[in-house]
Amino acid sequence: MVDGNQEDGALAPDRHTTGSRAALRRPGGEFRDRALETVFRHAQATENLRHARILLVASAILNTLFLTSDWRFFGTPHFAVAIPARLFVVAAAIVALIALYRYRTPAHRERVMIGWMLANGLGVGVLVSSHSDIAMFVLSMLPIVYYLAVPVSFGWRILGGAGCSLAMVAGYGSGVRSETISLGLALAMLILNVALVLVVGRSNRLERLEWLATRAERRTSAELAASRERVEKMFAASPVPMIVTARDNGEILRINDAARSFIGSDIADIGDIYIDGADRRHILEQLDAVGLVRDYEIRVRSGDGTARTVLVNATMLELSSGRHIISGIIDISDRKAVERDLEWLATTDTLTGLPNRLSFFAAGRAEMLRARRTGAPLALLMIDLDEFKQVNDSFGHQGGDEALRSFASICRSVAGQGQMAARLGGEEFGILLRNTDIDTAADLAERLRSAVQHHSIETRRGTIRITLSIGIAMVDQQDADLDPALARADAALYAAKDGGRNRVSITGRVAAPAPQSC
Ligand code: GH3
Ligand code: MG
Ligand code: MG
Repeated sequence: MVDGNQEDGALAPDRHTTGSRAALRRPGGEFRDRALETVFRHAQATENLRHARILLVASAILNTLFLTSDWRFFGTPHFAVAIPARLFVVAAAIVALIALYRYRTPAHRERVMIGWMLANGLGVGVLVSSHSDIAMFVLSMLPIVYYLAVPVSFGWRILGGAGCSLAMVAGYGSGVRSETISLGLALAMLILNVALVLVVGRSNRLERLEWLATRAERRTSAELAASRERVEKMFAASPVPMIVTARDNGEILRINDAARSFIGSDIADIGDIYIDGADRRHILEQLDAVGLVRDYEIRVRSGDGTARTVLVNATMLELSSGRHIISGIIDISDRKAVERDLEWLATTDTLTGLPNRLSFFAAGRAEMLRARRTGAPLALLMIDLDEFKQVNDSFGHQGGDEALRSFASICRSVAGQGQMAARLGGEEFGILLRNTDIDTAADLAERLRSAVQHHSIETRRGTIRITLSIGIAMVDQQDADLDPALARADAALYAAKDGGRNRVSITGRVAAPAPQSC
């Protein structure tokens, strides 16, 4: 018994597709593999049933029509056997037809047709004993029908066809005296049978070879379709936005769901998403040169109109339809924002917004190298707010914070653009002045001191006024690093403190503008 799955199973790879001729029996042309033969017969079941029905209906109708011609034997001894035999043949066709509806499996239906062949052969064998010209025609025609038109296995076709031939010869030969005619008839039948065996064998072979070829083709197309579907689904479902474009005109040929939701669905040309056209040119140049682009960072326009930073990975595909580019996009905008925040936190003083100690020393090292290279003077200012503890004591910590912020803003504006003013910690600040000689630095320090002294900070708890002390040192070209200059600036600062605060001190000399009262 073969169920529906076996037809599906027929699509699984098998060893019959190649070397299929060797898989067929000789001379019947059926598959050596019984299971495969069963699958084949199941595949042919509908077609076979149709043939069997047509054959049985034709037999019932034709033999009913022949009933009328049987009346010409009326009055002869043959009439008495012709009518019952004819009715028997008609009945055999009708019963077989009904049985075909009742039995559903190919094996059962084959048995029905074998039974019909037997009954029909016997009935027609009796009918051909009339020796009429139609009998002569039926004599040679019926074995042909048995061999070629009855859908049964090769073995049953041979048995049925040979049995039918014997029945025809026996029926036709009965009552004929001339042995020559009977022998001639038997020989003719033999030749007919041999020819039909060869025809059936050949037809079986061709039928099965064609079936195998069709099956292999169907399997290949199914595998191709399944593989295409797999690739399509994987491409569509990939969480990484992926786009396939034509190399020459940038037309978007394929785009997956993730890419569509990232760049929007109205974009037809990949060039439209680039914020900087130079990025596109660079990517194309690299693809043309090496066929590959890895982690190339660019800015693109996203579907919601915002600018995003992405990493592009792309590969050139040489297809028969032309050169295509497949690109994967990774949105790193959020990561970039976090990196920027972290960098800001690592390099900035959160209270004042000035660069912190780390940035100050990093910039100091870089400026020192630059100064050494260019020979330009580099000045260093160390600043400490005077008596700041008292500010906190009088105006609270919040007031102190307000004073620090206020000072930072003055410091930034007096130092000017391009110079580095930083909070080194607590109420201590530093300024690096590039391309600045000692006099200009002293001048700037004095302006800062004076600006702070005359500045008042309004708070809830009253007006704060602060002063500061500044130590100045020049970075010496001979210094190995920033430390000696820092030490000199610190020493100058202490000198300024010792000198009474609210003053500027330069290493080696105290530039002391007369302290003024706050
Ligand atoms: P001097 O003139 O000798 O420098 O006196 P000073 O009081 O400024 O010196 P000291 O180093 O003893 O005190 C520094 C004070 O600065 C102590 C501390 O409370 C205050 N301070 C440091 N950082 C902060 C801050 O972030 N906010 C506030 N409000 N105060 C701070
Ligand atoms: Mg201090
Ligand atoms: Mg202080």
